[in-house]
Amino acid sequence: MNNIELLNTDWLNLKLGEMIAKEDKYLLLITPYINLKEETKKSLKTSKAKICIIIQEIYDKNEERKKKKLEDFQKLKEYLSNVNFIETPDLHAKIYLSSNKIIVTSMNLQNYSQNKNFELGFVFDNEEDDEICKKIIEEIKLFLRKNEKDETIPDKLYYKHCANKKCNELIEKKYKYCKKCNDDYKNSQGGN
Ligand SMILES: [Zn+2]
Repeated sequence: MNNIELLNTDWLNLKLGEMIAKEDKYLLLITPYINLKEETKKSLKTSKAKICIIIQEIYDKNEERKKKKLEDFQKLKEYLSNVNFIETPDLHAKIYLSSNKIIVTSMNLQNYSQNKNFELGFVFDNEEDDEICKKIIEEIKLFLRKNEKDETIPDKLYYKHCANKKCNELIEKKYKYCKKCNDDYKNSQGGN
């Protein structure tokens, strides 16, 4: 049974900051609006994780403001050249996903340390066999497919742990064992 925790604004800031700073496998950050504080930018830039950020397409009725927003976004993309940014229309959900946690919340990734809004969210373990986790990933895939963006999400998002409990490496879902375990297995069988 998955452990679900309810988070208020302060806890969301803390958990999200931790997730971004500590993750070394993959991060999928879904946030309609993005405005990162310096610390978060640095965490993302130096992260070893494979990172994808999905945002709402930039628009503004005011041409000047729109131009400014596009310039800021361009600068961010240049700085975070290690991040795969995807822009989609009709995005309102906020979901933050790492190899071991999922946060579903009302909170955008927007200067979150200074965020004084009333926000709530849930955090739970990202478990391969958990029904809710599977459904969340399925809904994200459906949304991206609807917008013809699913090709831009690497299959790498869909990792699981190696079936060998002692190893527990993160591998693509299409494999049962990781390369390391397969080799070990072959060697222990006398090189078959
Ligand atoms: Zn393994």
